[in-house]
Amino acid sequence: MPFGQPTVIRSRRAVLPDGERPADVLIQDGRITRTAPHGSLAAREGELVDLGDTALLPGLVDTHVHVNEPGRTEWEGFATATRAAAAGGVTTVVDMPLNSIPPTTTVAGLAAKRKVAEGQAWIDLGFWGGAVPGNVAELELLHREGVFGFKSFLAPSGVDEFPHVEAVDLEAALAEQARIGALAIIHAEDPAVLAAAPQQPGVHYRDFLASRPADAETEAVAHLLDAARRTGARVHVLHVSSAAVLPLLRQAREDGVRVTAETCPHYLTLAAERVPDGDTAFKCCPPIRDEANRDALWEALANGEFIAVVSDHSPSTPDLKLLPEYGGSGDFAAAWGGIASLQLGLPAVWTEARRRGHGLADVVRWMSAGPAELVGLTGTKGAIAAGHDADLVAFDPDGGFAVRASGLHHRNPVTPYAGRTLTGAVRATWLRGREVDPAARPFGRQLVRPHARPTTVPSARAHIRTRPKESQ
Ligand SMILES: [Zn+2]
Repeated sequence: MPFGQPTVIRSRRAVLPDGERPADVLIQDGRITRTAPHGSLAAREGELVDLGDTALLPGLVDTHVHVNEPGRTEWEGFATATRAAAAGGVTTVVDMPLNSIPPTTTVAGLAAKRKVAEGQAWIDLGFWGGAVPGNVAELELLHREGVFGFKSFLAPSGVDEFPHVEAVDLEAALAEQARIGALAIIHAEDPAVLAAAPQQPGVHYRDFLASRPADAETEAVAHLLDAARRTGARVHVLHVSSAAVLPLLRQAREDGVRVTAETCPHYLTLAAERVPDGDTAFKCCPPIRDEANRDALWEALANGEFIAVVSDHSPSTPDLKLLPEYGGSGDFAAAWGGIASLQLGLPAVWTEARRRGHGLADVVRWMSAGPAELVGLTGTKGAIAAGHDADLVAFDPDGGFAVRASGLHHRNPVTPYAGRTLTGAVRATWLRGREVDPAARPFGRQLVRPHARPTTVPSARAHIRTRPKESQ
């Protein structure tokens, strides 16, 4: 649809903020201008796209993606990641501050990311900063430049250039983030618990699982919540894998601690009991745990205890995964820890959500509205509502497909979902009213945190929209 000309998208299954229903959605100049009863707008208002029974969802917002460019572009780059995202119905990604070189722990590191991402983003793109030992003085500068918050690791991150924080560093980082009003996002595993766990290398997943026990998560979350209580910082627990942390989070919320949490499609859809020996595509940290734990995560999700379900897409090259089909040893202890799934999160979660009696509106809350709220983009992203960017997905909830890793847009053809049949197929993705075509020129924009005051955004496409009220 041409920019400027009004368009109506019609669906019998539009997921609006108040639920799923038949609707017409009017789009002009990249925004949604109104929603109306099904069949009521098209005759007068402009070009019509009638999706029939195919669902219309707001574009997904994935706030946990490791793009790795510059520096490790062979693992994943902006072009491949954002094409995969668009093909998977994701219209906004917030990129993690590590695995690229340099990491996003300085303003110069952020500028390097922004420069290299320029002209390569098929969807909208924001950036997290990193809080590491020794960079407290950079946090306010990065915050002003528009990062959405700061990631810290409580245990080794897996890459040398992004060291983890000890208790004293965490306290200093959280105090500074409380002062400047930033969101602290935390990889919560406790290094002492990990060090004390049995380390048995090899191809057996159960040995890897024993090396990353649930206690590592509960211990780390307990420390984090203590520090949040003392500093008043707003904290977000990344990729909760163990349901044992949920009571701690509930108690902290009751005590007034500002804490949110996310989980990931792989923790909700995969289970330790069914990870094949040597299949290191399944390795991530914290690890995929057992079936009973998975059921408990679903229960918490249904109860609103997770603000977001996001991918933690963290690929590497197949050789670093030590995959047997690439001649690797299949050793879980030595393989790179990270799951590639950016293009598959929506159908993976929908397949399991539907089986458990959830509707599309639930999936939209977990994967679009919730993560938009987490990063303060409510009002522009995460809903089909007047005033929002026309970021939309045509999703066939009944369409099934068998996953072939080589058919994905990810840079490397590795994913634990390979060979699975998933339900739900993305038919089209629109970014600000224009259909995304992976073969055409990209028109994604770089986003900054609302109310940031960037001085060095190099991009003419940098997208700065102020909103009336700070939501963080
Ligand atoms: Zn991650």
